[in-house]
Amino acid sequence: MAKTNRNHPKNARSSDATTTVFDFERRFPDDSACLDALVEMLYPDGIHCPKCDKVTRHHRLKNRPAFACQWCGHLEYPMKGTIFEGSSTSLKLWFYAIFLMASTRCGISAKQLEREVGVSYPTALRMFRQIRSLLGQGDVLLSGTVEADETYVGGKPRASERARVRDAAQPWKAQSEAVRRGLAKKQTVAGVAQRRGKVAAKVVPNSRRETLVPFVTAKVLPASVVYTDELPSYSSLGDEGFAHSRINHTEQVYVSGDVHTNTIEGFWALLKNGLRGVYHSVSDRHLQSYVDEYVFRYNHRDAPGGMFNAMLGRIDKS
Ligand SMILES: [Zn+2]
Repeated sequence: MAKTNRNHPKNARSSDATTTVFDFERRFPDDSACLDALVEMLYPDGIHCPKCDKVTRHHRLKNRPAFACQWCGHLEYPMKGTIFEGSSTSLKLWFYAIFLMASTRCGISAKQLEREVGVSYPTALRMFRQIRSLLGQGDVLLSGTVEADETYVGGKPRASERARVRDAAQPWKAQSEAVRRGLAKKQTVAGVAQRRGKVAAKVVPNSRRETLVPFVTAKVLPASVVYTDELPSYSSLGDEGFAHSRINHTEQVYVSGDVHTNTIEGFWALLKNGLRGVYHSVSDRHLQSYVDEYVFRYNHRDAPGGMFNAMLGRIDKS
């Protein structure tokens, strides 16, 4: 069966940017339109019949989301192996959830999805986890001029710690209050950003040299120019074959000629805004998938067909 080429995702026929709810309704009026679009994405060269061992014409069945080979009757289920498999939520609601996620600049919470489309909160949460699972970073390699930096994100406090800060004026402030009181563990996120290019970011156990240097060497091509701040962990990057320059933040120097880390810091601002404004508190276990979502947003900010088509293009059979 033909696999989707992730580097050159083929958009559905109406590949113009779908930006408004009106665009969405016109393109995906019902489940059937969504299934047709899914077939076009997953089988760009037509459905390959394993029994006939070639691409054959398949007819859409009336009573279930399947297609039958016109020669041998073999049934192909387009949703099988995708995030939609086995879901009782309609395909249109799935597509709409992806549309909502793609069309908000900072992302959307499961609470908002619950309100918008009328699914239960656990269902909304599960749908977003599945959609986010499509947005993995893969093996992106950066080169040229690259900035490396790390940031710290407040982890969700444990139940016992939440109880200790329950007297906070508003419950949703419990998280920041817990962090302020040093109760919530901060998570470290390491990141690299190519100037006018892509970013890569990963939740890491700490900001020690043996953690950060391997991350940079895995994500950045040798002989690239790497800019960091004065954190001692980065001091051996020169030994790794990079042209390494540092900016001295402790002396309030933020830009020295071309040497700065403003690009990656801009990405950290987007990530933290999103985490703070939309998700309130993200448990440690799920932080990487949120980081992946924001990396995807950043790396596809200029996608020709828009963010929605870029996210749709990630749908694949696993
Ligand atoms: Zn066949």
